[in-house]
Amino acid sequence: RDLTYQLGRSLEGLVSTVTDPFTDSVVRLGVTGLSRAGKTVFITGLVANLLDRGRMPQLRAEAARRIEAAYLQPQPDDTIPRFDFEGHLAALTGDDPHWPESTRAVSELRLSFRVKPAGLLAGVKGSQTVHLDIVDYPGEWLLDLALLDKTYADWAEDALIRMAKRPEGREFLAIARAEDASHPFEEGRAQALAAGFTTYLQDARAAGWSDCTPGRFLLPGELAGSPVLTFAPLPQPAATPRGCLWQEMDRRYEAYKAKVVKPFFRAHFARIDRQIVLVDVLGALHAGPRALEDLRQTMAEILSAFRPGRNGFLSEILLGRRVEKILFAATKADHLHQSQHAALTAITEGLVRDARDRAAFSGAEVAALSLAGLRATVEETVERDGTTLDMVRGRLLATGKQAAMYPGELPGDPARLLSPARQGADRWLDADFALMGFAPARLNLRPGEGPPHIRLDRAAEFLIGDRL
Ligand code: GDP
Repeated sequence: RDLTYQLGRSLEGLVSTVTDPFTDSVVRLGVTGLSRAGKTVFITGLVANLLDRGRMPQLRAEAARRIEAAYLQPQPDDTIPRFDFEGHLAALTGDDPHWPESTRAVSELRLSFRVKPAGLLAGVKGSQTVHLDIVDYPGEWLLDLALLDKTYADWAEDALIRMAKRPEGREFLAIARAEDASHPFEEGRAQALAAGFTTYLQDARAAGWSDCTPGRFLLPGELAGSPVLTFAPLPQPAATPRGCLWQEMDRRYEAYKAKVVKPFFRAHFARIDRQIVLVDVLGALHAGPRALEDLRQTMAEILSAFRPGRNGFLSEILLGRRVEKILFAATKADHLHQSQHAALTAITEGLVRDARDRAAFSGAEVAALSLAGLRATVEETVERDGTTLDMVRGRLLATGKQAAMYPGELPGDPARLLSPARQGADRWLDADFALMGFAPARLNLRPGEGPPHIRLDRAAEFLIGDRL
């Protein structure tokens, strides 16, 4: 195994790092999803398996043995952090396997393939080089697109209304309502308000709410503490004299739009050809009906970014370009026995149906599936009280002990979960499901074998199969 990597490495050094504009083709794949959806694990599993290709039967170019080589290369963008593939793979597959650090900002990795042409061209044309540029970015940043259409007053009103519906918002709501924003601006006050607002967003995210915008409040990176992140929603005062708190909050909100949101869309989003949106459907199911409905609405908002027609700014920066394929993937499918994967995919389709129909309308090819970037469980069918149960077995994160789990039966019809009548119910899954966090298992990989996964090959076939 080590040898395979070393070979890959030396090839990396030998092969020219320059893209030949006449013969090479480049596919830019965006990987997004809300925080903890599984982006880091997905990319690590995908790249490891594409490098090794031992477990990718559904990738047709691989099944036809047309991929002669796959290797990592220096990425084309010099100022974007490189996705730490080696570090994340070592975390997942080392002696003491553990989950890697999650995505906190945008990062990039270039994986290049040398591929023999298919069909009639096979005898005539030589091998071709295809570069896959994987761009990992937080889904929260896509949600910020909605801010571009809103003034500070509109946004603040919406944010306060949303807060009133969430228990985690109670404390900050009381503070915001008590604030008179017509008073003169003071930096200390603005900082205290921004800190209170950020705490609310973090608590709301931890409780399972999906829409926790503005995106950079949760993942600030190098912007932490800067004025563009030092604002908060406040009720509009009757008068807004010059130099008052409201005016400065308004100015910072506009700066966030102009200096944070727009540059991200211009520099990264506008150049994506293919997109995978990862969704922690099981996590939302576990958090309960309101979290699932919130996820549905959030997905619709995320996907409005893929319908540029409606947004003047996006149409302007895309200049007629568009994302050609979008895949919605429910992650952590290894938490369920495969007999329930079809139900999980059906729920995912139900969640993104509206958004999906609209994306399809704008010309993108759209699909949904359930996957696991790294499979941490094995399947087990047991007899219990005369019935058979399809379970999964793995090492629990909480206790470190092996356990077999049955999360309960997911309904085959997602409409049953998503209908308004269900909104009153508190939970659907067995209480056992609360315990379901599995640690990655220790692996004994044979040479040429990538780490175990679920449907990464299908995902790769949908996203890039036509370009290989
Ligand atoms: P990100 O924030 O989108 O980058 O999310 P990560 O990829 O870091 O995943 C967040 C957490 O979800 C991980 O730490 C794991 O606990 C869990 N997870 C992600 N992918 C899988 C998977 O394929 N199987 C299992 N069992 N857990 C996963």
